[in-house]
Amino acid sequence: MNIDIMLDKLSKSKFRNSFHLNKKMKDYVYEKGMDTIKCHAYDFVLSRLASNEPINDGSQTPMKGHPVFISQHACACCCRSCLEKWHHIPKGRRLTNMEIDYIVDLLMRWIMIEVENEK
Ligand SMILES: [Zn+2]
Repeated sequence: MNIDIMLDKLSKSKFRNSFHLNKKMKDYVYEKGMDTIKCHAYDFVLSRLASNEPINDGSQTPMKGHPVFISQHACACCCRSCLEKWHHIPKGRRLTNMEIDYIVDLLMRWIMIEVENEK
């Protein structure tokens, strides 16, 4: 799925579009830099989503605490049910490397747009 098309679709969902980065989160992104945030995104996706049966699937993504978590809710990459519903990535099997890259690219694009919109 094309990332721009997906972001456009997500922005039309009242629920998904209700998630935004606050000033503190944006400051954190600036402070750490996009490369580091991207590493965090890979860590979270690999440890919380990628396995065939993620632990606490459906509630593994906090609503606060890290910009990537917020991005995951905004981008419907919070759990395997949302990945299946929005991104047509089936549950019950391990994510492929291509899917992991796609998810991280989407999350990072959303974060970049949020950060740039501040100014
Ligand atoms: Zn979800």
